[in-house]
Amino acid sequence: MKWLISAFLSAILLQPSFAQGKEYGMADFDKVEKIDMHAHFATGSPYNLDLAGESRFRFLSIEVEKGTWADVFRQEELLASLHRRYPEKIAYVGTFSLEGIDEPGWLEKTIQWIEKCRAQGSVAVKAWKNIGMEFRDRQGRLVMIDDPRLQHVFRYLEEKRIPLIAHLGEPRNCWLPLEQMTTNNDRNYFRNNPKYHMYLHPEMPSYEDQLAARDRMLDRHPGLRFLGCHLASLEWNVELLAKWLDRYPRAVVDLAARIGSLQHQTLRDREKVRQFFLRYQDRILYGTDSAFRETTQAARDKESLKKMWLSDWQYWVTDEWMEVAKVNGKFQGLKLPGEVVEKIYARNALRWLPEAFPAAGAPARK
Ligand SMILES: [Zn+2]
Repeated sequence: MKWLISAFLSAILLQPSFAQGKEYGMADFDKVEKIDMHAHFATGSPYNLDLAGESRFRFLSIEVEKGTWADVFRQEELLASLHRRYPEKIAYVGTFSLEGIDEPGWLEKTIQWIEKCRAQGSVAVKAWKNIGMEFRDRQGRLVMIDDPRLQHVFRYLEEKRIPLIAHLGEPRNCWLPLEQMTTNNDRNYFRNNPKYHMYLHPEMPSYEDQLAARDRMLDRHPGLRFLGCHLASLEWNVELLAKWLDRYPRAVVDLAARIGSLQHQTLRDREKVRQFFLRYQDRILYGTDSAFRETTQAARDKESLKKMWLSDWQYWVTDEWMEVAKVNGKFQGLKLPGEVVEKIYARNALRWLPEAFPAAGAPARK
């Protein structure tokens, strides 16, 4: 009998620390380990790290290519130094510039740069929507993500097993008039950034063109470790997103700035969205797209950060009726199992990108 009890006890103790059969509530917010897989630190004096610490948040800060190598160098210097100062709290992802893509030596320069960033601590490479939506080569042609000149870079990443974190295309709302957009955050963004509002630029590639170029690139690099930012720009339809995840079984997605699109779908069919999360619970990574710019914003951001974090938490862990600024209407929280909540907040990120953060309480992985 005694051995039975002790076998039973050790079986319990040897369970992985997943919250099996457990559910979380609003009061548990600070209990769960969290990684914001999509943040942008743009200041050398990061603030609200204490707040993040209380809520068990760590960050992956992502560089964004804004057109020149000089700007990429500046961002790398900033993020590499932040990572050196806060290695436990801030990991980061470097990027490269398309500037000079027509010139001989661009590929070598780019590969060398990627290696330099890696040596400084960058754990992946970022590609941004300027690929496909903004950058033009010397002939005036838009450079799409499946451009032959870029494939050497992606082959290199594939061979070296360096992850590519890519924000390609935009939410489908970008191709709709403002009044037809499904979320208020998209409506505000495109009202303020008309140059990216593709509905106003019918000469530019369509939504479908952007995603098709992305998928052709992925088809050419089946071994590439790929994270599709912003729900891989398939935020508006969980069925299409599910098909895409089935088609690219190695790929993962982040939720950054697209939770409103899921909430909009929840308004109509909560169970469909909930089933999506249950089925793809290993492929979805939490992210917020929070920008940390100057210290003067710290106090204002503190309040809005905590409010946003808690609103997202409420959506995952409760079945309460909710209203958020991002969507018009009331919807019910998804009340996901505790294990799924833990995976979305940190476990998936730790598994997919073990380079970024040593798992809490575990020795650093080699
Ligand atoms: Zn972003």
